[in-house]
Amino acid sequence: MTIVSSLFTDFGKTRPWQRKTPSPFPIVLALHRVAQRSEMPEGTVFAAISDPLELHSYLKSHESLLGFSLAEISEVTKASNSLCLTFDDGYRDNLTQALPILEQYDMPATIFVTTGFVDRVTSPFESTLSTMMVGLTEIRVPTIPWVTTLGRFITGRQPMSVPPSGILPMRSPEEHQIAWNMAQRPLKYGSLESRTDYLEKLAELNNMSVPPPEPDLFLNWEEVRRLDRHPLITIGAHSHTHPRFDLASPGQIYTEAKTSKIRLEEELGHPVDLFSYPYGANSYLARKIVKATGFRCAFTTSQTGQGRQQYSNPMAIPRIDFRDA
Ligand SMILES: [Zn+2]
Repeated sequence: MTIVSSLFTDFGKTRPWQRKTPSPFPIVLALHRVAQRSEMPEGTVFAAISDPLELHSYLKSHESLLGFSLAEISEVTKASNSLCLTFDDGYRDNLTQALPILEQYDMPATIFVTTGFVDRVTSPFESTLSTMMVGLTEIRVPTIPWVTTLGRFITGRQPMSVPPSGILPMRSPEEHQIAWNMAQRPLKYGSLESRTDYLEKLAELNNMSVPPPEPDLFLNWEEVRRLDRHPLITIGAHSHTHPRFDLASPGQIYTEAKTSKIRLEEELGHPVDLFSYPYGANSYLARKIVKATGFRCAFTTSQTGQGRQQYSNPMAIPRIDFRDA
């Protein structure tokens, strides 16, 4: 595949005939971890894990698409028949598992790093919860009524509610998945403090302790720098502690965006101007603040609007989840 540059020039001029052009838009895929599922402990939740074989076969079957680098984005517009991969969070397997595959297909990618994970000041609560759930046949979860209400408000759907007993069965992979969906909800919607409290409460209810973060789950700074020097890789920011930007206060959004930018620029020695919202979650205010902190483009996961219209806001560029691609 060839890296296409200067694709982003004809911006925001939608005409009716253009909407009928087949696939006139770039495909920007969002991934997280790339790891062999067969090597994961039994009961691991695969929500954010793609198998290297899946990545291989996707890139093989899309070899006709041109690879483009987000570093080349100047304006958001069409880049027909082109493809770019993005990886959120900064998992170490992006270097060890994904990069060799990207090299094989000459496929550019952007890695959006959560700087607090690399600084080892925090880690994703979801992966801690996943570790806590391995090997259980049931789990007791604290009931938090506002989570259901907030979930309904955010998704527009009535989420499954935790039974009054607070006990979720996990005897089959299906039950495990349902239990995971319900148990992780407060981690998705809560503040940093409430997420920490929730995991501690959950550990107490299940007579266990909150496990320490896996030491090599995330890249260290030397590895981020090595990736940054690689011609196929662009490094972007993904906040400092990974909160939802649609629920965070303006002050928190500013601190999160600014801290991640400053830490990356200190460590890499050059400007970093691409951002992806944790969970893809953003709001009018979040987009304004992220722009004001100096980011040129920001990426989400949700589709907003139709066709080219989706690309009209450089602070909310849609991506497709790799699992839905
Ligand atoms: Zn993330």
